Amino acid sequence: MKLFDCPCCGATVHFTNSLCTACGAEIGYAPGADAMVAPGPDGTVTANGQTWRKCTHYAQLMGCNWMVSDGQPFCLSCRLSRTIPDLSVPHNLTLWKRLEEEKRRVVYTALRLGLPVAPQGEAPGGLAFDFLADSPAYFTETGRVLTGHSAGLITINIAEADPVAREEMRAQMAEPYRTILGHMRHETGHYYWDRLVRDTGWLDPFRELFGDERADYGQSLQSHYARGAPADWPQHHVSAYAASHPWEDWAESWSHYLHMVDTLETAWAFGLRLEPRLAGHDALAAGPGFDPCGPVDFDALVAQWLPVTVALNALNASMGHEPAYPFTLGPAVQDKLRFVHDVIHGHS
Ligand SMILES: [Zn+2]
Ligand SMILES: [Zn+2]
Ligand SMILES: [Zn+2]
Repeated sequence: MKLFDCPCCGATVHFTNSLCTACGAEIGYAPGADAMVAPGPDGTVTANGQTWRKCTHYAQLMGCNWMVSDGQPFCLSCRLSRTIPDLSVPHNLTLWKRLEEEKRRVVYTALRLGLPVAPQGEAPGGLAFDFLADSPAYFTETGRVLTGHSAGLITINIAEADPVAREEMRAQMAEPYRTILGHMRHETGHYYWDRLVRDTGWLDPFRELFGDERADYGQSLQSHYARGAPADWPQHHVSAYAASHPWEDWAESWSHYLHMVDTLETAWAFGLRLEPRLAGHDALAAGPGFDPCGPVDFDALVAQWLPVTVALNALNASMGHEPAYPFTLGPAVQDKLRFVHDVIHGHS
């Protein structure tokens, strides 16, 4: 995630801000222009050759801070939400707010990577989100799976936005990492597999690397939950769950790749440059124009990434927190991330 400039006073503002903390101006993120803009007294502002106005959800209940340029009442991110939680239920507003915040971040990175993002109903093959609640008894991944993807529709159990429920699930599933952002990125992975791999020349190389996705999906998951991942999964997969089926392996690798480029972009925006010195890899030193979301050399990306993760974990330990990055990237896992990188930039 980049840092932005207040269009009124030039102060640094963040992606989530709807007010500049320095000059008090009302600001909003213009997704097509990839900039913060400040609407004038008539509620509009011109940027990137387009007229922008505030999303109808702007600073309302849910607190969207995005702008819209195509005459629609809602911004691109809000239009992806097909079903929102029942707001008459106490606490659901808090959960919805959190989900939408994370979705805006997912959409931001997808746009930065040049991926197609269009709401279902507005474009063939579009994307939609259902944020659904269920009774706590059903909030289990071994029985009724609520969080998932089907033909462009991503369903998220809103309990995932509740830190207590999510932590309980994380412990139950023995996962080192479980976040809303991770869920959303994982599910978009299934969506983009349909769009970028399934009917393309990437399918055969996908099968070579990830395995044959025609293996019975239900059976694979069942046996994963019954027996767990093979002991040597870290040599082949980015997570234990990725070992369950080639589709899950892809979605886990996809979401990991997005974590990588977003976190590197943030590190870069804050001037965190670790300049790893690797023998014989001088060419990998990233210059000031290094853009982790651009079609950069994958090896350069990883060379930047690994030391950042070590620093990230060390910073967390200094504050008494668990490691922010509980992963290791062996050569086989890096090959899968490289494949995701190639699919994304081959497409762009
Ligand atoms: Zn300002
Ligand atoms: Zn919005
Ligand atoms: Zn999945």
